[in-house]
Amino acid sequence: MKKLATYKNGNSQVTIYEDGTKVRRYSEPLLLEFPESIDIKITNYCDLGCKFCHEMSDIAGKHADLNKLLTVLQGLSPGVELAIGGWKFPIASRYFRLS
Ligand code: SF4
Repeated sequence: MKKLATYKNGNSQVTIYEDGTKVRRYSEPLLLEFPESIDIKITNYCDLGCKFCHEMSDIAGKHADLNKLLTVLQGLSPGVELAIGGWKFPIASRYFRLS
């Protein structure tokens, strides 16, 4: 199976494969230096007004600062997983080129 990324995190060697499998090899105790996955909310703006909103997003919400976001992302090891919240195409297209 094809490897997508391999990186060292503390005393752990992490390998991620194309099917999403993550293999972490380490000796006890596990001592990590940084998180393996990060949630990023790219905007707090939303115009849908769901009563059950758990994001506390509304039309007064602000977008994340792209330059600050890129600075943070560029410091991550390749293979660190990102969960991107605030994903609404017109807003997301300001941040990412979708091809
Ligand atoms: S962020 Fe999600 S849950 Fe909240 S108002 Fe918008 S669509 Fe609804």
